Amino acid sequence: MALTHARAERHRIQVRKGDQVKVMAGKDAGKSGRVLSVNATKNTVVVEHVSIIKRHTRPNPSKNVKGGIVEKEAGINVSNVMVICPSCGKHTRVGHTILPDGSKMRSCRHCKSTLDK
Ligand SMILES: [Zn+2]
Repeated sequence: MALTHARAERHRIQVRKGDQVKVMAGKDAGKSGRVLSVNATKNTVVVEHVSIIKRHTRPNPSKNVKGGIVEKEAGINVSNVMVICPSCGKHTRVGHTILPDGSKMRSCRHCKSTLDK
């Protein structure tokens, strides 16, 4: 019996929804905001007030959609953002701390405090 594991070539995303992140590259470099959503397949995150795109929508009464221009955050690549540590306020790479009970927590590389609640 042969099992084939189709393993996608992707990194595990260290950024989570609700994190405060800083944009390091791209047209919104320097901005920071809260992560609204993470797309693990596309490796993108949607950050509040960052990378706003304008969408021209047609009215669709059955979906209760009004026509016009809608401003919406577009996803940016996770490699362009860094997590801001809530304890020391620096943007950091994400390290891991293994707790005595065996659970893994994300931690700040600067002050070693945990990024997860
Ligand atoms: Zn820190």
